[in-house]
Amino acid sequence: MRYVFLLGCALLFITSPARAGDEMELQLQNRLQAHIEFLADDVMRGRQTGSRGYITAANYVASQFRQMGLLPAGNEGSYFQQVPLRRALQESGSAEMILKQAGETTKLVFVEEFYMGPSLGRATTELEAGLVFAGYGIEAAELGHNDFANLDVKGKVVVTFAGQPHGFPSEEGAHFASRTERAKAAVRHGAIGLLSIHTPRSAKRYQWDRLRSRVGSPSMGWINGAGKVHGVFDQIQAGGMIRHTAADPLFRNAPVDLPTLLEFDESGQPLPGFALEGAVEMRQRSSHENISSPNVVAVLPGSDPLLANEYVLYIAHLDHIGELHADGLEEGQADPINNGALDNASGVSVMLETARLLTQGQPPRRSVLFIAVTAEEKGLVGSEYFAMNPTVPIASIVSAVNLDMPLLLFDFADVIAFGAQHSELGDAVRAAARDFAIELTPDPFPEQNIFVRSDHYRLVQQGIPSVYLVTGVKSRDEDVDTGLITSGFLQKHYHKPSDDLNLPIHYGAAARFTRINARIGELIANEPDRPDWHEGDFFGRTFAR
Ligand SMILES: [Zn+2]
Repeated sequence: MRYVFLLGCALLFITSPARAGDEMELQLQNRLQAHIEFLADDVMRGRQTGSRGYITAANYVASQFRQMGLLPAGNEGSYFQQVPLRRALQESGSAEMILKQAGETTKLVFVEEFYMGPSLGRATTELEAGLVFAGYGIEAAELGHNDFANLDVKGKVVVTFAGQPHGFPSEEGAHFASRTERAKAAVRHGAIGLLSIHTPRSAKRYQWDRLRSRVGSPSMGWINGAGKVHGVFDQIQAGGMIRHTAADPLFRNAPVDLPTLLEFDESGQPLPGFALEGAVEMRQRSSHENISSPNVVAVLPGSDPLLANEYVLYIAHLDHIGELHADGLEEGQADPINNGALDNASGVSVMLETARLLTQGQPPRRSVLFIAVTAEEKGLVGSEYFAMNPTVPIASIVSAVNLDMPLLLFDFADVIAFGAQHSELGDAVRAAARDFAIELTPDPFPEQNIFVRSDHYRLVQQGIPSVYLVTGVKSRDEDVDTGLITSGFLQKHYHKPSDDLNLPIHYGAAARFTRINARIGELIANEPDRPDWHEGDFFGRTFAR
């Protein structure tokens, strides 16, 4: 099949004048640029979920889908699936955290020393409770790890280090270390509050200063049939983060002090668990409003009478984090708009042009579904809503490819597909990349838990083999230091107003990435059998239906 396709390509290349090929390439690059420029324009005000800017972006995507001849696959014959959301805003200045140990009271400074986000569950948060240190707060029988062993956390606030033990297998580890799995573990053991200590090691994954951009920004969750916010645990009365430089008081008279624990975290020694002295007080007020914001869904119908009832899925988040609140602006900072040019105007643009390429070739045998989702930045909320309220039967979705923040800043020579090793989907990605002389590089950042941090994970949780595809770590131009470009973006521009159209976006790379992405879909859509989880794979065992 692949051989035939390659031959087809070669013939096309030989029989068409070179100029026509160049012309098509240029058109593809221009269209990618046009999408990114539209979606990352200041007029979108950072595409905050529920905002006018987001709706404008959603209408643009729907308009593009219709122009390409894709059919609506949202609700009631439209391109839109409205996601019912609760929006919670923290009352400015209401967040307080007070530590009470050994007769001393320490009031921490908001954002500088502690952080609490708005509560989706309660308008008033007011908790005073005792504390237990529970390592990383992870319970993973599968991996022989239990931070709760021999600890009594009933009615207590569980204090943990952010991150996960050294040597945890990357993606299974990421699953157990995810916020939801930790919260579930704490709930199972009767805890009523969560306090996570931000350590120097966890700063490599998430710098404390990034929290500043969240100040004044709403939290959101989707509302289920019972009128409750999905994923909110009633038992947990308060949750927050504390910077390690402010956490010393918690460990007064503790069997192991904080500097030693931080050393263990760095060196990989197991963290002990023990009750802490004293108590913590956590307070805040949140206002709630019910809103809705659409996922945008379209389908390219398959050509095979039987296989057309199955769907190859592409997903990319359309929302971003909106504008910085005045409280979150740094001294002298003038531009408050988080344009999200690469997060994720780039991914949506690649998905749109992937759709166009697939409409232009031989019609694929399976149907292809395209979803631009809302509220990814709120915790993969729009994708979870779709995965749990799908507009096609969930069992008919054979695979998912997620496009989130492809760094289109250099002429990449490899791609990374997080999750590729778990299913046969990995083979399709490798084959598609090879057709463009591009390598598939194994996850180079296992400590970053990337596999659970984007929208494909919501589909994995419904048993669908999925990958998260990004450009890789190598450049075709040997003089380019890709590590410098990547870390430079993550440190200086990620989730900041400077992730905008001033970045040197490489549209040639964008075009190649789009072609690889389309080829992946083409291979899966035309294969007689749907991709399966690998025999005995953890995610297949845990989630497959
Ligand atoms: Zn983001």
